[in-house]
Amino acid sequence: MKNITVIGAGTMGNGIAHVFAQNGYKVSLVDVSKDALNAALSTIAKNLDRQIAKGTLSDDQKLKTLANLNIFTSLEKGAEHADLVVEAATENKALKLKIFAELETICPDKAILASNTSSISITQIAAATKRADKVIGMHFMNPVPVMKLIEIIRGYSTSDETTARIVEMSKKLNKVPVEVNDYPGFVANRILMPMINEAIETLYHGVAGVEEIDTIMKLGMAHPMGPLHLADFIGLDTCLSIMRVLHDGLGNPKYAPCPLLVNMVESGNLGAKTGSGFYTYDAASKEKRVSDYFRK
Ligand code: NAD
Repeated sequence: MKNITVIGAGTMGNGIAHVFAQNGYKVSLVDVSKDALNAALSTIAKNLDRQIAKGTLSDDQKLKTLANLNIFTSLEKGAEHADLVVEAATENKALKLKIFAELETICPDKAILASNTSSISITQIAAATKRADKVIGMHFMNPVPVMKLIEIIRGYSTSDETTARIVEMSKKLNKVPVEVNDYPGFVANRILMPMINEAIETLYHGVAGVEEIDTIMKLGMAHPMGPLHLADFIGLDTCLSIMRVLHDGLGNPKYAPCPLLVNMVESGNLGAKTGSGFYTYDAASKEKRVSDYFRK
């Protein structure tokens, strides 16, 4: 597999394109937004400069990485020669089903179609194509160039051959692939999201404040970031939508999203990306402080 098409040039897509291009693959990065594509190229260049400053990349490797990247607003042009597609477009089931149905007609028959979805069923996505054996989940972690794990999700019909090829490819990217089956939330979010939701319940019931909950989990459990800070970083809308996938898919009331999380999303306080969640974020000073709503 030489030609890789990455669909979606947002937070995850630019990181995924970066990692493939740095490892010698020809990458076609596709997005409906020209602005998103340009922003992705400048983020990748900035992140490569950071690697050079750390001494982990040479100037020559940076040039080779950038030369491996091409951008497209047309899915047809960006995916027609793909050996592997990694879809990292917005987390929306209808959108992903439409993209995969289009890929079925655009891509060569032998191409493997992967999705970076955090929670949508790979089996359902595969059913939008005529090659369910070649559809698989490749769940990269944020920030992609730094995080080692790729959660590899086998849909109901994913073949052993497809899985083996994606495991091998992940190792070539210097990542650690871990294989899981396709059930709601897979493994990463089935464990992480209920923990975050429980941290929000703990705050909602007044057991402790924002900083106290985060400090306990950081210093007591050696988590690098408290769960409420992490929820802000992931995006509270994303956390809510994953909790709903767990609740709907597993039917157990223990996965019901906390009413406080629902209220925060409905009020538009989505975390770092909107400047306000459990903490407020000042883009200029890069400072964070507990939001006024949660101050005693
Ligand atoms: P994002 O909002 O930063 O980027 C999504 C991009 O998709 C946008 O640039 C948008 O213009 C583009 N897009 C929308 N429709 C498109 C289409 N039809 N064709 C091409 N591009 C299209 O989102 P993100 O955080 O990068 O998430 C992308 C995927 O990765 C989602 O499935 C998400 O669940 C998953 N994911 C996210 C994280 C995370 O921490 N953000 C971690 C793991 C997995």
